[in-house]
Amino acid sequence: MIVHKIHLPHSKNSAESETVTLPLPHRAIISTAQHVGAVCTPTVKVGDRVKIGDVIADSDAVMSAPVHASISGTVSEFTEVLHISGRNMPAIVIESDGLGEISGDIKPPVINSREDFLDAVRRSGSIGLGGAGFPTSMKLGFDPKEKQPDKLIINGAECEPYITSDYRCFIEEGEKVLDGALQIMKYLDIPECIIGIEDNKPKAIAKMRELCASHPNVTIFPLKSSYPQGAEKTLIYSTTKRVVKEGTLPIACGCIVINSSTCAFISDYLKTGMPLVSRRITVDGNIVKKPANFIAAVGMSIGEIVYYAELCAEPDRIILGGPMMGACAFELDYPLSKTNNAVLLFNNSPVYKPTACIRCGRCVRACSMGLMPTAIETAFDLRDAKKLDALNVNLCVNCGACSFVCPAKRNLAEKNQLAKAFLREQANSIKGA
Ligand code: SF4
Ligand code: SF4
Repeated sequence: MIVHKIHLPHSKNSAESETVTLPLPHRAIISTAQHVGAVCTPTVKVGDRVKIGDVIADSDAVMSAPVHASISGTVSEFTEVLHISGRNMPAIVIESDGLGEISGDIKPPVINSREDFLDAVRRSGSIGLGGAGFPTSMKLGFDPKEKQPDKLIINGAECEPYITSDYRCFIEEGEKVLDGALQIMKYLDIPECIIGIEDNKPKAIAKMRELCASHPNVTIFPLKSSYPQGAEKTLIYSTTKRVVKEGTLPIACGCIVINSSTCAFISDYLKTGMPLVSRRITVDGNIVKKPANFIAAVGMSIGEIVYYAELCAEPDRIILGGPMMGACAFELDYPLSKTNNAVLLFNNSPVYKPTACIRCGRCVRACSMGLMPTAIETAFDLRDAKKLDALNVNLCVNCGACSFVCPAKRNLAEKNQLAKAFLREQANSIKGA
């Protein structure tokens, strides 16, 4: 396992601001593609009345999580929203009745077994709130007869600049993070938990140490503040020195990794039965007057959320997520999804023109996965699938570190993503032949 990492400016400007819960919006546009995996099918029709927490879309696919109404009102239309993948995805529009009524189905789940717990996690609509969007029930739904993990790792690294939503969760809801972890350990029979937090968050480390003092099987692990410390494989290596081999999942080395805010949500859901209908989001950037964290309804317009943080200029760059792994949005009129942990707004953003590679090797030294980004770029430009495979491009975690350090400003991380998509296409065309 290669562990070269890079150092980024932290710019955690919203770290000390208490989270503000925003009023419910007049309208919610809720995508049915809220997670990695199958797109859900609407279970409502135009004209239906819905209340907060009602299921509005679901799927039979294993890799999925139901989608719930985040406001009460009437389903007014089905539309499409631009997904982070660049494709249009179906969405359900709800016009608010202004009442904020909660569904009569909301009640804490009754849990007597592992199966009950996994069923509840699925029904909660939980997905990885750190940005990856993997359905939580899939992550926790391992077969103990095949492999039983011995370590639950809580990812509180939050290594990207600006983002503080997990940090605020530790500070404001640390009890829930711990409780969520204890519940997972109890129902899935995992004996040990490690909560990894970067050492640039001493208050979060101190708070969690205090809370965990009476739980000897839960350890707080201060992680060196470097990037990409929060990448799953890197985090597992940093906390346990175990290596997730290529083509395998963390469970193969006895680990399950869950984001800290996801843990807090699971704790909440088990107590209240309220599914994932809102989330914490950081708003920051060089034109944001009041960098802050907000709790907002899923489907609320990003523009409306940003309004509460006050902009002092028009943005020329809007990033959903962090500056390293986030995706640029064309406009602010974009609905909040379960996976959005931040929106960053900038103006006067530098535009770089790539120049020729000077073979300095910085991209290779920066890559935590031990890849050769410049060789991958050349192989992709030649559409050389064999070479890309030999260069292990599929190990790339899209962290962007190679692009960040490149003095020639080459778009290496972008090429890696394109190369992975190219290999997938090749594999699919071979299967289909
Ligand atoms: S984007 Fe991929 S190739 Fe580049 S540094 Fe990150 S893991 Fe390595
Ligand atoms: S960091 Fe940039 S210039 Fe240096 S070897 Fe890599 S691609 Fe070439």
